[in-house]
Formats: sequence, C-alpha cells, structure tokens
Amino acid sequence: MENTIVKISNLVKRYGDLIALDHLDLDIKEGEIFGLLGPNGSGKTTTINCLLSLLSFDKGSIEIFGKEMTPVSYDIKKQIGVIMQNVAVFDQLTVYENIDYFCGLYVSDKQKRKALVDEAVEFAKLGDFLKFYPKKLSGGLLRRLNIACGIAHKPKLIILDEPTVAVDPQSRNKILEGIKQLNSSGATVIYTSHYMEEVEQLCTRIAILDNGKKIAEGTKDELKRMIKNTETIRIEILGLEETHLKEILALPHVYNCNYDGSVLTVSCSGGKHNLIRILGVLQEHDIAFGRVYSELPTLNDVFLEITGKVLRDKGNEE
Ligand code: ADP
Ligand code: MG
Repeated sequence: MENTIVKISNLVKRYGDLIALDHLDLDIKEGEIFGLLGPNGSGKTTTINCLLSLLSFDKGSIEIFGKEMTPVSYDIKKQIGVIMQNVAVFDQLTVYENIDYFCGLYVSDKQKRKALVDEAVEFAKLGDFLKFYPKKLSGGLLRRLNIACGIAHKPKLIILDEPTVAVDPQSRNKILEGIKQLNSSGATVIYTSHYMEEVEQLCTRIAILDNGKKIAEGTKDELKRMIKNTETIRIEILGLEETHLKEILALPHVYNCNYDGSVLTVSCSGGKHNLIRILGVLQEHDIAFGRVYSELPTLNDVFLEITGKVLRDKGNEE
C-alpha cells in the first residue's frame, strides 16, 4: 500500500452559521495528482487553508506526512509548495527576484538556490521575462510566476488552488503539462478546480465537493461508472412533437429525453444501438434531422446526477 501523504478526518469548518466543510474525509497517497473538484463556494479553498493550518477548524484532524499539522509545524511546511488562488508575488521585485525570494525562505545556500531558481525559471518558461516586474506580465505569465515561486524549493507536496482561472489556453496547457512533470519527478499534487475537463485530464483521483460535503470520490472512470448515464445523444431537429418524444422515451435504455425546439437530447443507460433506434423513430415519421452527436458521460454528468445541478464549466462561465 502506498504511503498516505495527507489524511483529513471528519473535518468541520463553520463561518458563523454557514457550514463550509461538513465532516470531510480525504486520504491522499504518495504520487497522486489528487483533484478537488467543485463549484464556487463548495469549500475547496477552505480545505486548503485548513490543511495548511492557516485557518482554525471546529472539528476533525489533519495529518501530513504522518504527523499532526499545526500552525507551528515548520518541518512539515517546508516540504509543501503552495500556489494560492490569488496570485501572491511582490510588485517591487522582478520575476527573478521574486522566485529567488520565495526559494530563499527554504534554501539559504546561495549556490544551491541559484540552481533551483534557474530550474524553476526554465520550468515555468519565464526565461524571457527575468527582469520584468509583475505589473508588466500578462495574466498567464503572472500565474506561471506564482507557480515558479511555489515550487522552486522542490517540495514533496504541491498544492495548487485554481491555478488556471482566467488564464489563456497556451499558458493553461503549459501549467497542466508542468504539473504532470512535477508529479513524474516525484511530487504529490493536490489540485483544485471547478473545470471538470481539466481535472479529468490531469488527476489520478478526484473528490467532488458540493456545499462542503464530499459527494463522490474515485478515478474518473470509477466516478463515471457510479451513474446510470452511459451516453447522451443530441440531434438537431425542427418540429418534433410530444407524441414522438413519448415514443423515444419508450425505447429500451432511454431514461430521459428533452426537446427545446431545436435540439433533442436523449439520455441513455446501457445498450449499444441507442442512436440507431432513435433515428429509426425519426425516419418512421419522416422527420428530417441535422447534426447528430453522441457523447460519453463526463464528470459534469456525474455532478448533475448526484446533485441535480449543473457544474459550471468553461463553456458557461459567468
Ligand atoms: P471554493 O474555494 O470552493 O470556491 P470556499 O472555500 O472559498 O469555496 O468557500 C466555501 C464557503 O465558505 C462559501 O459559501 C463561502 O462563501 C464561505 N466563506 C469562505 N470564506 C469565508 C469567510 N472568511 N467568512 C465567511 N464565509 C466564508
Ligand atoms: Mg476557492
């Protein structure tokens, strides 16, 4: 069995009357890229702040590297690299000086530190911007600087809280690739996001949070096997009638169907020939149709089926 790196047991955090974390348990193993996926306000940042002992909590316990985490656990803290949701760098320092400063909090030997800072610069592809001040950087570069500052000292555990929000696609891909690279070179990673595709692409195991509760946990395939949806079929059609909908709903394996006046959406559970049967009904009634899509379940479907709510995604950003 792999080593447990982080163990959160029965964690409860209240802000006044609001229960931000509701008896949360997490067990994160060495070598994982563990995803905390949940909509805004589900408790991701609160979890991270409790983990780091930046926030006191009402109940429960937290162990990191097998020891209880407390505000003065400096031996634990120096093996953790944190990239917070809000970029935290010094405006008066250049890119290079910022990384050197944060690395210097852990590594005092100048020569060793220079090698580490150079490596972090190379890692975050910031070589062309060493003398820039943060104010001159684009959002994506600023995020990359924030990450470089958090990882330069080569921590064993790296925690990233929504590191790709409002980042251009190019920087986003660099960030995701970078995280995989850090993980391959031995770091355990905790990654929070409300972007399900990102978590799906990156994480070895995922816990889904909603209202401070863990509602599901597993690999992406395990999570998808928990739900009844196996296929969602969408067909562009004009003028579909209620009787046709009823006929489609009566087909084997179809458990839901919905028509908004231009697109028919059919949810299926199991079965291999769902699309053929649906198109059969349309042809039988001489109904013309346009484009046809068949989609496998996503983590969004998992969230939807368990909570009845749509998880905010890149496509429907505020
Ligand atoms: P997430 O990071 O998933 O968006 P948060 O952990 O920031 O969620 O927030 C969880 C819940 O706690 C939300 O309802 C949020 O409004 C509330 N919350 C967070 N920080 C505070 C605070 N300092 N005071 C009161 N409520 C807070
Ligand atoms: Mg947050």
